[in-house]
Amino acid sequence: MTNQMQLLDRRPTEMVTTDILVVGGGAAGLAAACTAARQGLKVTLLERYGFCGGAAVAGLSGTICGLYLARPDAAGKPEKIVFGFVDEFIAAMKSRDGLTEPVRYGDTYTLVHEPLAWRETADELVQRHGVQVIYHATVIGVQLDGGERVAGVRAFTKQGAIDIRAQVTIDASGDADLFAMAGLPTSVGAHGKVQNPTMIFRMGNVDVDRFLAAYGSDAIMPDSVSKAIMAANAAGTYKLPRAKAFLFPTPRDNELLCNCTRIIGRDGRELNPLVAADLTEAEIEGRRQARQYWAFFQANLAGCENATLNDTGVQVGVRQTRQIVGIDTLQNQDVETGRKRSDAIARSAWPIELHSGIKPRLSWLYENYYDIPLGCFIPLQSESLLATGRCLSAQHEAMASARVTAQCFSYGHAIGHAAALSVKEKIEVRSLRASDVRTLLNEDGAQLDA
Ligand SMILES: Cc1cc2nc3c(=O)[nH]c(=O)nc-3n(C[C@H](O)[C@H](O)[C@H](O)COP(=O)(O)OP(=O)(O)OC[C@H]3O[C@@H](n4cnc5c(N)ncnc54)[C@H](O)[C@@H]3O)c2cc1C
Repeated sequence: MTNQMQLLDRRPTEMVTTDILVVGGGAAGLAAACTAARQGLKVTLLERYGFCGGAAVAGLSGTICGLYLARPDAAGKPEKIVFGFVDEFIAAMKSRDGLTEPVRYGDTYTLVHEPLAWRETADELVQRHGVQVIYHATVIGVQLDGGERVAGVRAFTKQGAIDIRAQVTIDASGDADLFAMAGLPTSVGAHGKVQNPTMIFRMGNVDVDRFLAAYGSDAIMPDSVSKAIMAANAAGTYKLPRAKAFLFPTPRDNELLCNCTRIIGRDGRELNPLVAADLTEAEIEGRRQARQYWAFFQANLAGCENATLNDTGVQVGVRQTRQIVGIDTLQNQDVETGRKRSDAIARSAWPIELHSGIKPRLSWLYENYYDIPLGCFIPLQSESLLATGRCLSAQHEAMASARVTAQCFSYGHAIGHAAALSVKEKIEVRSLRASDVRTLLNEDGAQLDA
């Protein structure tokens, strides 16, 4: 007698066909889906949660970084250099009072957002552009058609499996899940070591005016706060593994968004969020740290004496997992030198913001920006599959700059056009011309030639 196990799900599988399939409703997936749908194509967006927003909302990353130039001491007025889909998003968020004015972050500026307004804005935009959204759908495999051609995916939902066939599929999962499922080459961090996850939390009942009077308008807390954190650790009163805290007043009254934890394993090892046990440990350790930092802030920071710990992210914030291997790769040097390229589909002035060790490393690019080429989103092998968002093909430090939200909107905008061009003009994705995508982006106001 054999002892074979049988995997069973007797529920019927629903079949869906679409022109373009987008997996993941983060900043990049939302922009890609809306852009492709505006070209008159049938677009389906799958998202494992019940809302769009990804790291920005589920992970509570909380601010739209990457919109403005950097200058020493953030001198002068904020100068915006990223345009396009993000402007439609910003306008819709502002109509809900869901965004602050520019808030100082070191030598540049960022916009702090309200996560409920983000979810509602995303719902409005997908409906406005006619995207068919399926929430609570987790992709569990890719459908391969004739060797390496990706023809769609299978998703798990509560009704059972759904098979979606698409002419072009966009991996906006942040984790390059589809590339990994298809066995396509990917890379992970610096020799497998990724940036630390962070559990972001919000504190309510803060006297924000007194807080700002004590620490200034820069969300990066001054050295005096870092020293107090290190002294508390040395005294054994708290266990706070990151000494540089980023604390942002939000669009809500009396609230601070707190980006300050640094999630490492209980045994001190760096965690890899691609490993189920590590991700679980990160969630538990993240909540433990949030409670510790809140207690420290309450006891030590002006304006926070009566602060409440409102909430943590729906999930721990994961900065980095897999990068795809594209036909082009953003190099560390491209970022450091502000390289410009004629095949660019996005630009960034964000510093290399590398979260590793007790203080995140920030390397600024002053009064300059670098370009990100289309090839970073096109697979080295395979057709009919594109990537967008933070899983772009990039070296480790380059990714630590290129991953922020404004750029993810730009990548989605570009890849939405690229996918639509591929379907409408019957061009294989690896034969797409960056100049054609760039023209369409500029027609939408991306100002890449300005
Ligand atoms: C702790 C932290 C702090 C940060 N701080 C900032 C900041 O202050 N400002 C800033 O601009 N950026 C910040 N970032 C970076 C920024 O938030 C992200 O890089 C960016 O939002 C990524 O967008 P994305 O669309 O590429 O991916 P994501 O936002 O990760 O979206 C991917 C989506 O895909 C879905 N998904 C994943 N796998 C599957 C699957 N198999 N099936 C179906 N759906 C799936 C996910 O649920 C998610 O919604 C921070 C990130 C972290 C982690």
